[in-house]
Amino acid sequence: MTLPPTAPPSGGSLDPTDWAELRAQGHRMLDDMFDYLAGLRERPVWQPAPADVRAGFSAPLPRQPSSLEAAHGRFMRDILPYAVGNAHPGFMGWVHGGGTAVGMLAETLAAGLNANLGGRNQIPIEVERQITRWMRELFGFPEAASGLFVTGTSMANLVGVLVARAAALGQPVRRTGVAGQTRSTARLVAYTSACAHTCIAQAMDITGLGTDALRLIPVDRDFRMDPAALRAAIAADRQAGFQPFLIAGTAGTVDVGAIDPLDVLADIAADEGMWFHVDGAFGALAMLAPALAPLLAGIERADSIAFDFHKWGQVPYDAGFILVRDGATHRAAFETSAAYLSRETRGLAADSPWPCDYGPDLSRGFRALKTWFTLTVYGADQLGAAIARTCDVARHLARRVADEPRLELLAPVALNIVCFRYRADDPHASDRLNTAIAQAVQESGIAAPSTTRVNGTLAIRAAIVNHRTAPADVDRLCDAVLRIGAELGAPVPEVQSTP
Ligand SMILES: *Cc1c(COP(=O)(O)O)cnc(C)c1O
Repeated sequence: MTLPPTAPPSGGSLDPTDWAELRAQGHRMLDDMFDYLAGLRERPVWQPAPADVRAGFSAPLPRQPSSLEAAHGRFMRDILPYAVGNAHPGFMGWVHGGGTAVGMLAETLAAGLNANLGGRNQIPIEVERQITRWMRELFGFPEAASGLFVTGTSMANLVGVLVARAAALGQPVRRTGVAGQTRSTARLVAYTSACAHTCIAQAMDITGLGTDALRLIPVDRDFRMDPAALRAAIAADRQAGFQPFLIAGTAGTVDVGAIDPLDVLADIAADEGMWFHVDGAFGALAMLAPALAPLLAGIERADSIAFDFHKWGQVPYDAGFILVRDGATHRAAFETSAAYLSRETRGLAADSPWPCDYGPDLSRGFRALKTWFTLTVYGADQLGAAIARTCDVARHLARRVADEPRLELLAPVALNIVCFRYRADDPHASDRLNTAIAQAVQESGIAAPSTTRVNGTLAIRAAIVNHRTAPADVDRLCDAVLRIGAELGAPVPEVQSTP
């Protein structure tokens, strides 16, 4: 449709007066980021920021404008070199995705459009629904399943616990609060493995159920939740008058990448009439890799799945997601009514339900776009192959560790995470030595592992999440650990007393 032209700009807006100049500057900014991504291997993975660079960010609020070119120069000089470095193939700490240039471009488009995905009648929300449809398909969920982008799996797990809470206590809990409910009903208790991410406990805290109401079930030798112990704990709680309402299984624990026996957990949840939630922060997307998907058997029976596209999905931060089997139950946990959010059958206020009916966020960005671009441009199979390759690289590292007499593997490698240590001459010095080795490797810029504890022992931990990481990168990590370990672990020479 053609509309009459609007009046020419009368000044005062924040738009440039010279678009050609902005365009040229914008192209330089984009080029710098392409150069950054194309030249990652020539950079250190990470380097500590000098004190003066850090101090530069304590400047007072700027009252006067400065040029975009100057701000960009500052970014290149003082910000870009001192990020964590998770785009780099040598980054193996925590669970960080590497991102892609395609994702970066999509994020730029989303920022230009500046869509607010809280609701209303717009195709960007249809793009988010497309992701939900694709995830239903991937996880074998029914048509009635709902999905929602959130910041990350910490938030997705919180949404999962809130939906489970409303499912157990009914919608009135939203009015009375948990305190109002506990007078008339038994206290709700939830179950997760001793190796679960702490955000599950945090979700219990935030929802008012309390961390005391989360039972940490022991794990087997492979760090998987022990179903017999789970059944026993549920029985004991029922006996004591508690109301077991939620089992939170993990598909890929953060420490070692273990996968709980999801099928058995689904059976127990069904027998006990409980909600079955899966924290699949990185692991759930193993469904994209045909060789790995069978490891997740049972995930298709979950009531809700929390996971991140920004980890194994390679989508730039942030892009967490929650999928709920029964969309009506999901909506009942969040839906509110307000005159300024009323729904219509035509015009901008049509196309209900809206994403804001499924979670705590009203204003929300267009996270779906970078995810849609990533899935569309690469295709699910290629992303699945990248996921499978990270597991191959992890197995390569595990073999290297097994072959080096100085190194010791501390946990089985279920997926993409390798926990190992440098053997200290003095076993009591092991934790201290391996902490120091991990720090020195990080500071070397060669690789960036993190640390964790496995059965109480401090481990150097390499989580291969980035699609760029190749066997040669974990070889470099191994070589650096051996070299630095030999330097730091060498017995201190006896000090000769001077005559
Ligand atoms: C990373 C992770 C989380 C937290 O996810 P965020 O996206 O960082 O909020 C939760 N659980 C597991 C198993 C994780 O690996």
